[in-house]
Amino acid sequence: MKLRKLITPRTLFYAAYIFLLLLWTRSLFARDEVYLIVFGHLLMVDSFSHHLFFHWSAAGGYAGPRIRFRLGLPQIVVHLQYFQVRVDQDEFGWWLAIPYWLPVLLMSTEPIWRMCRALSRRRRIAQGRCANCGYDLRMSTDICPECGEPKTK
Ligand SMILES: [Zn+2]
Repeated sequence: MKLRKLITPRTLFYAAYIFLLLLWTRSLFARDEVYLIVFGHLLMVDSFSHHLFFHWSAAGGYAGPRIRFRLGLPQIVVHLQYFQVRVDQDEFGWWLAIPYWLPVLLMSTEPIWRMCRALSRRRRIAQGRCANCGYDLRMSTDICPECGEPKTK
């Protein structure tokens, strides 16, 4: 199979989802930092335990490369509540802290919805109904008269 066929919005979504879960787990043991120069500003992304931290400031004092990774740093305790989302300003610029569970929860709705849909389709097929709309197909031949979905055995 070609690699290009594997790169679909859905596989990218799941790759990001798995990456986020791994990063969250890793954040319990080590801190990772990424420095990015974006639009002439410095964006610092930090993986604190349970929180993702974004810091946006003027790039003036920063002399490093455009992208810089600092991985596996010792984790430090941040004084943020587990459920706290916080936007604030410091002497350098703006920062945003979001708890990992928030994007993970939002992204979980997709696989959960997909699973519920698959279960409902299976139940409908087992009851002799159309997998798509639930119309009773026990007396029908091969196509649902209600929505045109081919009958699934
Ligand atoms: Zn139907």
